[in-house]
Amino acid sequence: MDLRVIGCHGGETPKHRTSAFIVDDRLAIDAGSLTSGMELKAQCALEAVLVSHAHLDHVRDLATIADNRNQNKAEPLVVAGTRGTIAILKKHFFNGLVWPDFSKIPNARHAAIKYLEIGLEKPTRIAGYEVVAVSVDHTIETCGFTVRGRDGVLGYSGDTGPTDRLWEVLRETEGLKALLMEVSFPNDEARLARLSGHHTPETLLEDMKKLGAAMARDLPTLLYHIKPSFQAKVERECARLRGVNLSVCSLGDQFIL
Ligand SMILES: [Zn+2]
Ligand SMILES: [Zn+2]
Repeated sequence: MDLRVIGCHGGETPKHRTSAFIVDDRLAIDAGSLTSGMELKAQCALEAVLVSHAHLDHVRDLATIADNRNQNKAEPLVVAGTRGTIAILKKHFFNGLVWPDFSKIPNARHAAIKYLEIGLEKPTRIAGYEVVAVSVDHTIETCGFTVRGRDGVLGYSGDTGPTDRLWEVLRETEGLKALLMEVSFPNDEARLARLSGHHTPETLLEDMKKLGAAMARDLPTLLYHIKPSFQAKVERECARLRGVNLSVCSLGDQFIL
């Protein structure tokens, strides 16, 4: 499994891009920078996007990738998410007002995007992978994912603060190779993190104990969603954590899992 980091930050500057990851050039996880961070050819090669939740920093480039793919007559892009997330995209995003309804353009039978509702914890075949959505704790309906390919499983947390079920599912997942895990704010912004449904390094360490000591120590955990304003501070605080196997994602990183 080839994992590429297109965007891995909780905000945007010319040096920071919002969340988007690509598996084997064909499956995207979140859409925060699918067009700002990828060439047209790579945009058109994607088969599906897993959307963790409807916050703008995770869905924004669905707008521009739908437009680009439509111009290039690409196959319909599968936009997969839970029922609540898909409902928000239909009502508030591709609603014919803030952006055209690309699920009907150029025509309803063969459109630029195609919605796929996935049930929580119901394994679903998407772009050749077995995807499982797991509910996490954020300010709106949000899920993490496990993505099973031929070589193993990638975990993805979505935006979340302290949560339970995701860790249980990860603990029970055979062949788990790595976890893309959110951390957003430094420890002294714990109140803001709590109110906005995100982690600090301290709450992350506490939450990862739910994996059990051995798994927490061994599982390659790739951190994303750090707020640009706090990048250096959060990295320093994460570097001090013990009993976990953390690395901070950078734009352009590639991991072979
Ligand atoms: Zn969010
Ligand atoms: Zn976010």
